[in-house]
Amino acid sequence: GNYTKQDIIQLVEEKDVQFIRLQFTDVSGNLKNVAITASQLERALDNKCMFDGSAIEGFVRIEESDMYLYPDLNTFEILPWRPQHGKVARFMCDVYRPDGVPFEGDSRYVLKNVLKRAAKMGYTFDVGPECEFFLFHTDDNGQPTNITHEKASYFDVTPLDLGENARRDIVLTLESMGFEIEASHHEVAPAQHEIDFKYDNALITADNIMTFKMVVKTIAKRHGLYATFMPKPITDIDGSGMHINMSLEKDGKNLFFDKKDPLGLSKDCYHFIAGLIKHARGMSCICNPLVNSYKRLVPGYEAPVAICWSSINRSPLIRIPASRGAGTRIEFRSPDPAANPYLVMALCLAAGLDGIENQLEAPEPIGKNMYLLTEEQIADMNIDVLPSTLGEACDAFEQDTYIQGVLGEHISKKYLEAKRKEWHEYCRHVSDWETESYLYKY
Ligand code: GLN
Ligand code: MG
Ligand code: MG
Ligand code: MG
Repeated sequence: GNYTKQDIIQLVEEKDVQFIRLQFTDVSGNLKNVAITASQLERALDNKCMFDGSAIEGFVRIEESDMYLYPDLNTFEILPWRPQHGKVARFMCDVYRPDGVPFEGDSRYVLKNVLKRAAKMGYTFDVGPECEFFLFHTDDNGQPTNITHEKASYFDVTPLDLGENARRDIVLTLESMGFEIEASHHEVAPAQHEIDFKYDNALITADNIMTFKMVVKTIAKRHGLYATFMPKPITDIDGSGMHINMSLEKDGKNLFFDKKDPLGLSKDCYHFIAGLIKHARGMSCICNPLVNSYKRLVPGYEAPVAICWSSINRSPLIRIPASRGAGTRIEFRSPDPAANPYLVMALCLAAGLDGIENQLEAPEPIGKNMYLLTEEQIADMNIDVLPSTLGEACDAFEQDTYIQGVLGEHISKKYLEAKRKEWHEYCRHVSDWETESYLYKY
């Protein structure tokens, strides 16, 4: 909705809202919140709610930890699964310093900045995500496992199981919160699902993804299941992606469409693609933030490896779906659902704008015989590949000063430090695979 302060005060009163959760997203992409009661509503609406920022990883040093949460009134939503007597509502919030300056470690602020830059050029940026996830069983202690008993695959209709009932309930809950669900289906792997909601302005979509994950996890739990957005939860089984479908609009017109072009794509669309290709490696550690993310980005599971694009349905990094006119869009397929959606969208847009501003040339689209090419042929065509580990992604990030500039110094520095640490910790770890493969042989 388009709410004023007065609307909110009235809604809280009328709808019998007792608790209000002030939510925000940390740099790692985790939703956080602090709850207040309705008695504190006016204080919250006056941006006077403070929290201890040092509690949030990657945020601030202890000595400057006071931060304020400014609720975005348009994100007011009642949580339908909480008691309907004395209801619980939430706001998505922006994080500010005590002096009223936006906090540069707030990823929502980073996205807003890039959106502002696009707006100055007359552009609106719309994004439709495709989030995939697994619904697994929990163990006897209620702890998550990666075990499932179902055997369904892509678009399958199975005898009703726990997963199917949970998915139905998730969709209905999202609809009651105002989501327009375009499709939901079983994905390729057993226990893997996808639910697609309608595209919207990137900021709303990023908020929606955070809400979506909260709903999926909450409702799954009610069905005795554990929902995970871990990119590759099982060896040798498809991982979960978060494809990003994007389009630019100017004066109400889709900027990527040009009916005179043989492929129906505009010059700006080709430049945008070129920008994404240029920065794909540098963006990786944001789009694919975990050690585990890189186990998804391997050949054979519909996840991208080679940095190229295609207008036909294969598995390149960038695909142009068939629809033209107002539906013309670029699908960027590397991001996974563990990523911080605000930062992913900020970088996708910034990479595309770099392409447009500097008139970067897109390479030739890749034809259907791509998988028949040898490694040498691919190298001859000047096609690069995505980083194959988090460590390599950190190096690529360090080399892409443009991408670092978009995130700002605060986030770039903290993020790289944290990711390098994560990578080194993993490298030191002796895994089951190693003991199984080596112990008795050597
Ligand atoms: N699960 C695949 C991935 O990792 C995508 C499958 C699909 O939607 N075609 O990206
Ligand atoms: Mg899909
Ligand atoms: Mg899918
Ligand atoms: Mg897709």
